[in-house]
Amino acid sequence: MHVKTRFAPSPTGMLHVGGLRSALFAYLFAKKHGGTFMLRIEDTDRERLVEGGVENIISSLQWAGITIDEGVSMNSDRQIIQKGDHGPYIQSERLSIYHTHIKELLDKGHAYHCFCTKERLVELREYQEKNKLPTGYDGKCRNISEEETKQRISRGETFVIRMKMPKEGSTIIEDMVRGRVEFKNELVDDQVLIKADGFPTYHFAVVVDDHTMQTTHVIRGEEWLPSTPKHVALYHMFGWDVPQFAHLSLLINEKKQKLSKRHGDVSVEDFKEKGYIPEALVNFVAFLGWNPGDEREMFSLKELEAEFDFDKVSKAAAVFNVEKLNWYNKHHMMAMDTHMLAKRVAPYMVKCGFLKKLPETEVEWSSLSTVIELEKGRATTLHDFPEALGFVFAETLEYEPGLLVWKKSTAEDARKKLELLHAYLSEKNDWKREVLETETLEWISAQGCGVGDVLWPMRTALSGQKNSPGPFEIAVVIGKEKTLQRITDAIARLS
Ligand code: GLU
Repeated sequence: MHVKTRFAPSPTGMLHVGGLRSALFAYLFAKKHGGTFMLRIEDTDRERLVEGGVENIISSLQWAGITIDEGVSMNSDRQIIQKGDHGPYIQSERLSIYHTHIKELLDKGHAYHCFCTKERLVELREYQEKNKLPTGYDGKCRNISEEETKQRISRGETFVIRMKMPKEGSTIIEDMVRGRVEFKNELVDDQVLIKADGFPTYHFAVVVDDHTMQTTHVIRGEEWLPSTPKHVALYHMFGWDVPQFAHLSLLINEKKQKLSKRHGDVSVEDFKEKGYIPEALVNFVAFLGWNPGDEREMFSLKELEAEFDFDKVSKAAAVFNVEKLNWYNKHHMMAMDTHMLAKRVAPYMVKCGFLKKLPETEVEWSSLSTVIELEKGRATTLHDFPEALGFVFAETLEYEPGLLVWKKSTAEDARKKLELLHAYLSEKNDWKREVLETETLEWISAQGCGVGDVLWPMRTALSGQKNSPGPFEIAVVIGKEKTLQRITDAIARLS
């Protein structure tokens, strides 16, 4: 069997991390089994469409590194394209396909026209709720004759088309995450398949599309589990094979609330804006419900493609923990080649005005990399780099002179140490990190000074900050001239 999975979002807003997880799991499962990952756009709910929604979904997936093998995609000019033999892959372009299929169900007696008005349905629901009855359509139009149906249609009555859900027995679903789930058919509604506007509902379109597009595994959020018996019934009515289902658990925050916009960032775009890198977000999202079964935590997308499977996907709700995401971001940035990291950080440096424009030459990139190296290992997000490294670029530093004084030392002492240091460093010609550090430490000990008494004022003189990278790292990055100038400036502040 050739595995084909799909991600089938509705373009009703920016891609949510929950959506990213569904897409990622579907993608990983396909890759693991040498299969195909498809993107289909489910835009039948015309009222909820958001301009730019499709573009945002695709660019978020592309940013995450998820490759779309088939279906809707975007070219380098940000134009929506479709690729594959089972298209169109945008539901609003498939109306004739749904109409052919609904005709088949009507002809077979598996679907019927329903003329109930909105008002009647509202009344029915109120009555059911008041009397604590299960809510749902009561089947009033289920047995209207063909003759009467024709007449009412020709009279211009509005109608929808509903499925004739078999009311006996039960539907059993062997879900790849949840195991065996059983639904009593009598409790399953006669779902509307075609709406009054002629558009299919999600439930009808999803089944027709998954079959005609040859989806083998339907991987989606748990909220769709209660609808699955309707879908299975439709497969049976058409005489089609039922795909495998995997329903992913809910994503919750630490307060056990469903993840939502109201409780903070949820869109992939938000995380990108906040300076998270795709490698980290993908690794983090993979662990929302999946783990490799051992202690390993750091995974690249390629490694996930090789490891992922549903036997390690949990059915318990997955907790979205921002601290953990921060951990991943920090560690993935640490693991990244500094030149590559510099490419990610550079736009933020330009935005903050520390760089006038993006580096162009190899030399410019290298010198930015040396600066970036200072914070690699300390920074949590890409934003932390310009924030923490502003002092490197600054013409003059702003800080309180008191910051230069180490623990129980005095301003007078700090000034003396800096004067000695200035004289010592002025003579140094080898400005390489190791040499500078070893020799300066030897010199400090030969002077009979405490290391902190010299290095603390040196570091704060060079950075103007309470916390910063070490003094030698900074000295090498800013160069000898700027180092001496900053020490002179610090001495002046203490005088
Ligand atoms: N369009 C549905 C959604 O956005 C897709 C559900 C499914 O994957 O079947 O949630």
